[in-house]
Amino acid sequence: MSKATPNHFIRSIVSNDLANGKHDYVYTRFPPEPNGYLHLGHAKSICLNFGLAADLEGRCNLRFDDTNPEKESAEYMDSIRHSVAWLGFDWDELCYASDYFDELYKFAIELIHKGLAYVDDLDAEQMREYRGTLTEPGKDSPNRNRPIEQNLDLFERMRAGEFEEGELVLRARIDMASPNITMRDPILYRIRYAHHYRAGDEWCIYPMYDFTHCISDALEGITHSLCTLEFQDNRALYDWILENITISKNHIGEKNKPMPRQIEFGRSNLEYTLASKRKLIQLVSDGHVNGWDDPRLTTLVGLKRRGYTPASIRNFCAEIGVTKKDSVIEISVLENAIRQDLEANAKRVFGVLDPLKVTITNYPENEFETFTVKNHPKDQTMGTREIPFGREIYIEREDFMRDPVEDFYRLAPGREVRIRYGYAITCHDVIEDANGNVSELLCTYDPQTAKGKTPDGRKIRGIIHWVSAAHAVDAEVRLYDRLFNHPNPGALDDFTSALNPDSLQVCKTAKLEPSLQEADPEDRFQLERVGYFCFDSVDHSTETMVLNRTVSLRDSWAKPGIKK
Ligand code: ATP
Ligand code: MG
Repeated sequence: MSKATPNHFIRSIVSNDLANGKHDYVYTRFPPEPNGYLHLGHAKSICLNFGLAADLEGRCNLRFDDTNPEKESAEYMDSIRHSVAWLGFDWDELCYASDYFDELYKFAIELIHKGLAYVDDLDAEQMREYRGTLTEPGKDSPNRNRPIEQNLDLFERMRAGEFEEGELVLRARIDMASPNITMRDPILYRIRYAHHYRAGDEWCIYPMYDFTHCISDALEGITHSLCTLEFQDNRALYDWILENITISKNHIGEKNKPMPRQIEFGRSNLEYTLASKRKLIQLVSDGHVNGWDDPRLTTLVGLKRRGYTPASIRNFCAEIGVTKKDSVIEISVLENAIRQDLEANAKRVFGVLDPLKVTITNYPENEFETFTVKNHPKDQTMGTREIPFGREIYIEREDFMRDPVEDFYRLAPGREVRIRYGYAITCHDVIEDANGNVSELLCTYDPQTAKGKTPDGRKIRGIIHWVSAAHAVDAEVRLYDRLFNHPNPGALDDFTSALNPDSLQVCKTAKLEPSLQEADPEDRFQLERVGYFCFDSVDHSTETMVLNRTVSLRDSWAKPGIKK
């Protein structure tokens, strides 16, 4: 797998644990909830968990943390599996917290037996009131000292469906005065009459995240449970639960070794994007974007459709690293990662987005020649191809200026430029349409200048791209910009107010060189001087070509065309 995991603090902890025999090997897991599609933030966690295991010859599970039946679905689960595999990772075990419902239930009974859990009937508001605040301790619920037998009976009846949602909960009996609010008798189980996408209608009580997660880790033999910073306060509860139930970490993992240890790391969020499944769902369901795989989204399916490679995303994750602080990442970091990959690996081809017809008046009609050009300037193994040339070609409208400004070295009346890999041409006439817009250029070519030659050593400064009009293939090209105008849309009350109205520009006029008709739909390529592109996985066909611009050649704020 691409780059080695960089040396970050978690890797140091794990390496030490291995070196001093605390663990025989590292066992991690990536534990998404199947309540949406994965995004770039998840990629960081995936690369960390799977990368660490791969580097240190350990194991890593993919586990669905599926204990909220209302929000979860098989569609989300499938997409998550595909995205993890697409990123290039292979799990040792595919696990589901919902497979542990029976065991979790038994551990809850054990806590009740030990006087460490009780059934409570406070409503949500009372619960909040009794919990206290950061500066004030909480108050004991009147049910806190309910006899064990009664708790067992009520909990069994909760499971049997004798109560309404919200009527009763099971709580851990820890310490209502704890300075850590998470430890003030947290809820372990609640009643939900909801169909679970895997467990069906077997359960009407569902375990909470904190109860489920540590037990799932222990059952799977996880050694290091890596999660994001917001779970820092939950670590005490994680440890408390594992200390108070009879569980040995023998299920799949090592024997007689310490319980899993939770370690928190910082979230990374990309500027100008949203990274919260809940908010992404809103964008999709309210139609602000065209589905989860809209190429403007930083969901993994969106990035894939946009043309990002798995390697570029892994390299991005390696680049941003793993730290103890949350971080905000500039878009350029992501764009540079894909640029680097495509710069080295994408085939070069010609395409013109906004075509201007050029007739080469001294080139014979109905005659054509071909130029043999390299598919990649540096990588010879990518071979060569033939591009046709004839009397009529298209150039990019931006490459012509009627009254050229200073520093404009491309085509203008009376001026000579080279059409890349071909001849030098000189513009001698400009044809306008009825509105006074330039509709065609008349040029001559110099036969002495084929294949980059300038026999008399005269200087031709501009080089422009082009396609043969007789051979060009029409295409729709989709150009993407940031979806939001605000660097942190997630912080706004209404993030839809920051949507960028120009985030998608559809260009229906593009003309491409004919070789693209034979290209593999999975291919990625550079339209020389225009940007990096891929075929749209949904709308493209050989009859109707649809391209997505993955990234521009340089800065993403630059216009689609041209600089030189
Ligand atoms: P969301 O708010 O998008 O639902 P989440 O954290 O609730 O995100 P989970 O499915 O619970 O989503 O996350 C699976 C794993 O991915 C967790 O370990 C979580 O910490 C990690 N993760 C999610 N977002 C980020 C992020 N922006 N940076 C780093 N890790 C993340
Ligand atoms: Mg979550």
